[in-house]
Amino acid sequence: MTAFDTVLIANRGEIAERIRRACADLGLRSVAICSTADRDAPYGPRSDLFLCIGPAKASKSYLNIPAILLAARVSGAGAIHPGYGFLSENAGFAEAIEAEGLTFVGPPSSAIRTMGDKIAAKRAMLEAGVPCVPGPDEALPDDPALIARIADEIGYPVIVKAAGGGGGRGMRVVATAAELADSVAITREEARNAFGSPALYIEKFLEHPRHVEIQVLCDAHGHAVWLGHRDCSMQRRHQKVVEEAPAPGIPAEIAARVGASCVEACQRIGYRGVGTFEFLYENGEFYFIEMNTRLQVEHPVTEMTSGTDIVVEQLRAAMGQPLGFTQDDVTCTGHAFECRINAENPETFAASPGVITGLHLPSGPGVRVDTHIEEGYRISPFYDSLIAKVIVHAPDRDQAIERMRAALDDMRIDGIETNLPLHRAIFRDPAFCKGGTDIHHLEHWLRTRG
Ligand code: ADP
Repeated sequence: MTAFDTVLIANRGEIAERIRRACADLGLRSVAICSTADRDAPYGPRSDLFLCIGPAKASKSYLNIPAILLAARVSGAGAIHPGYGFLSENAGFAEAIEAEGLTFVGPPSSAIRTMGDKIAAKRAMLEAGVPCVPGPDEALPDDPALIARIADEIGYPVIVKAAGGGGGRGMRVVATAAELADSVAITREEARNAFGSPALYIEKFLEHPRHVEIQVLCDAHGHAVWLGHRDCSMQRRHQKVVEEAPAPGIPAEIAARVGASCVEACQRIGYRGVGTFEFLYENGEFYFIEMNTRLQVEHPVTEMTSGTDIVVEQLRAAMGQPLGFTQDDVTCTGHAFECRINAENPETFAASPGVITGLHLPSGPGVRVDTHIEEGYRISPFYDSLIAKVIVHAPDRDQAIERMRAALDDMRIDGIETNLPLHRAIFRDPAFCKGGTDIHHLEHWLRTRG
């Protein structure tokens, strides 16, 4: 880790703009990069330098490690911020950056590697006292009789998962013993083909959990804090749609115990920067499923409740600065929601690229919009459809719901289709407004609403 005054942002879209602003807050120069499809990105001219590094195809630009390293070299960047997605959880990328004598704005590559292997991650968590889903922290053996015995001990339904899996792929739910052998064989084959490793593990399948996650922040000197929890149960096809902080109805003592165990885990693995421990939450218990070793899309809800600039803190940690506060200083107040605004048809979810012909963003007390779009900007068909995040903060959950309804009603995006109507309907859904719905609620509601 070395001092730096220039940060290359190895990403695009709203998060590139978010990182650029955090750099400016710290007096750091920012270098934005783009593919040929993003040449008109509004954050380009606002950055200190804007470099086109390759064609539209992400493998040739945003995933092209040599091109990104070259851009860092020619621009004099001392650090590279990976954002989320793309190369953000690629241990090889972090290593390549370190080998160049540059700083990767993220954890040590060893921590990325450990957390990328779900069996190693589970083992590290159990050692730190983080509660995990029942099931062994070991790869499944080959012997079908042994596998059957392990599944019997856990109790059906179980879920078979690839150790190297990600993005909701490489996992299969098994309801009865009769299906077990075939399910293991199919998942093993998928794991070998998709993730390059046939290693599998097995755990209890929880039927009605909520998705609750804990945000951590660590410096390079062994200090770590957790900044409260978020609920991201409103998902469609494993994609989060609405997030909130705090997760409603979680007893403070239970959260404090789990938060402290996450901090302990960070210290044990020598973690640095920001990270998120994802849990399933069912019947008052937390069960760890995975750690994201990067900044997350939904970090703003925690920024609003904890009063912390998570991206600024992440950059400070990368500069080697000690954390400026302790756990006792962390207080979370009020309630925050985030709606992910996507360029897509709100009924069919088909992507809707095109030119934004008119735009009105909501504003006012407790309303924040993280976005890179502006009038005249063309949404490209090549990448993720996320174009803006509407975030609100209010003294309590009911007031935050009212504030989000008003913000969504005020917002207007012309020229393309967006999921704004879906968000407006979600914030009128009585079950969601009551709070505490499980990870299946949104899909069920989509299937059954009139
Ligand atoms: P990925 O790395 O692919 O995102 P995760 O381990 O985070 O994989 O799991 C993705 C999703 O699969 C979870 O958000 C949850 O919906 C479901 N899932 C994973 N493990 C379990 C489990 N033990 N019980 C119930 N659902 C699970």
